Amino acid sequence: MSGFLFEQVVFGPIRSRRLGISLGLNLLPENEKHCTFNCLYCECGWTMPKSKRRMEFPSRDIIKTELEKRLKAISEKGSFIDAITFAGNGEPTIHPDFCNVMNDTVELRNNYFPTAKIVVLSNGTMTNNIEIRKAMTMADINMLKLDTGTEKTFLKLNNPLIKISLEEIIENYKKFNGNFTVQTLFTKANYKGEIIDNTHPDELISWLKILKILKPKLVTIYTIAREAPISEIEKISPGVLQQIAKKVEEAGLKAEIYS
Ligand code: SF4
Repeated sequence: MSGFLFEQVVFGPIRSRRLGISLGLNLLPENEKHCTFNCLYCECGWTMPKSKRRMEFPSRDIIKTELEKRLKAISEKGSFIDAITFAGNGEPTIHPDFCNVMNDTVELRNNYFPTAKIVVLSNGTMTNNIEIRKAMTMADINMLKLDTGTEKTFLKLNNPLIKISLEEIIENYKKFNGNFTVQTLFTKANYKGEIIDNTHPDELISWLKILKILKPKLVTIYTIAREAPISEIEKISPGVLQQIAKKVEEAGLKAEIYS
């Protein structure tokens, strides 16, 4: 399956499960998924093999022009937005001009909707880069992916396409000094004859141990909402998500469920 892909640089505004009325920014090529991961549950479908990618990222100027056009139109209609969210067809921080795009976005947000939050949904794989980290800290909310506390499940569930370990990602997350939100997707999958289950009690113990070290402002917990690239993958029930959220709260952290 090709997954759910965006055709534009700016999309929405949409009512988001997590962020209210959110205007989306897709920094990736239109109709093509680009990511450093290839998560089994990705609603954009499988990541395009390197050899087939067009790599035609929208330029900084195009992004700025499109964003301003949309913000102006929303403002002239007397409507509002709660957030501008970097999301779209993959991992936004891999855009070659991500730092300048962030500068432009902050400037435009301040001009049109100063109370709107700038949000980055990221898998965290670029947080080893100090410039990208600096740009990310200009956002109001960085929602960083942490689906597991074990290398084994990380490799199977997130399926990284670059050389990176969970340990490296966690070390980079520490540099945010707790000023971020963790996003964790829970699921159970049967893929290539193996069961991958990040709701397993042993998995939860490792994940909670890392959360206690990272001390994020918030842990957001959710499950699959759209079709995934593989068929043998399960949505986790609200009851199980609630039990997991309770464990996060018992560890002294704030949790929110989006089911
Ligand atoms: S990190 Fe996000 S965009 Fe990338 S493969 Fe995973 S779910 Fe898809």
